[in-house]
Amino acid sequence: MSIRNGYPSAWDPPSLIRVFPSFPLNYFISHRMKTARIIITYECPRSCKGCCNKQDQFKHIQSFGALEHVREFDQVILTGGEPLLDPKRLIELISLIKHLNPTVEIIVYSALYRDNLAALLTVLYLVDGLTLTIHETKDIIDFVRLDDILGVVNMPKKKLRLNIFKQALICKLVSPRWDIKDNIEWIDNCPLPENETLFKL
Ligand code: SF4
Repeated sequence: MSIRNGYPSAWDPPSLIRVFPSFPLNYFISHRMKTARIIITYECPRSCKGCCNKQDQFKHIQSFGALEHVREFDQVILTGGEPLLDPKRLIELISLIKHLNPTVEIIVYSALYRDNLAALLTVLYLVDGLTLTIHETKDIIDFVRLDDILGVVNMPKKKLRLNIFKQALICKLVSPRWDIKDNIEWIDNCPLPENETLFKL
């Protein structure tokens, strides 16, 4: 997926400063999570009209280079295109990243959960978080199937985020395991959060 919506920060400097007023602000600035958002493929079976990958500035993205560079980041977001089009490659990539930087947080973006649940669950087991996107109303059936399975499988706690586009009419109460961002609309130029750098693999 290539929606440019960053994860909300896990910490909240303003409220921490209120509790510990003498804490230097520079500490928070220098310890801000450093994120690499990596497009691992441009292939995608959908053709969303606002896809960031079609916008001019996304045609000249810097390459990530040697994968050893993951050691310089606190978080890696693997996105596309659709990363789950090739689950074997994705799993190999995740394993390699974890080998090179065992403490890095890995988040996978996807909008492909139809007929792909086994691969998706395997990937989810390996990573720290998953961001799914519901683009249109018909995607909801697949999401409900996944959500029901997550309710019964024994999966360690993960950061689960659900992006719901404005045009998708969702009529199910989504379980609280998902952090929901709804009413999403396409944004021109797809701005990135401040702490993120975009690469292609
Ligand atoms: S699903 Fe994501 S990558 Fe695929 S076309 Fe839509 S916005 Fe682009």
